[in-house]
Amino acid sequence: MYEGGCLCGALRFRADDRPIDSGYCHCSLCRRSTGAPVLAWVSFPATAFSYTKGRAAIFESSSWGHREFCNLCGAQIGYRKTDAATTVDLNVGCMDGPVRISPAVPRLLEGSNRVVRYLRRPAALRGIRARCALV
Ligand SMILES: [Zn+2]
Ligand SMILES: [Zn+2]
Repeated sequence: MYEGGCLCGALRFRADDRPIDSGYCHCSLCRRSTGAPVLAWVSFPATAFSYTKGRAAIFESSSWGHREFCNLCGAQIGYRKTDAATTVDLNVGCMDGPVRISPAVPRLLEGSNRVVRYLRRPAALRGIRARCALV
């Protein structure tokens, strides 16, 4: 079982199954919704995910998906498709404790200086397929 929550603690969640996918996304929507250059996410079956405290606010970030976040502290919990979502992509940073999840790393982002390289050469990321939007 995995648990986590937002920055202020008003939102808590749990996932009662193993992750089915994980990775990093650097699309414009993930960057702007987190304020970070790269978002690490881990995907669970939607049927295994539930909020155990609070109710998430919803922001339709595109015509195909929405972001779920705390409307008190603003922390983004995750993403899912708007229609008939079978999975929930949770932001790894919201998980409790040490996270035993190893997101798949796009080749161009490998290495200890991956964020620096990304900030200096965003054009180098073009062509990498992002999960939820265009780079
Ligand atoms: Zn909060
Ligand atoms: Zn994204």
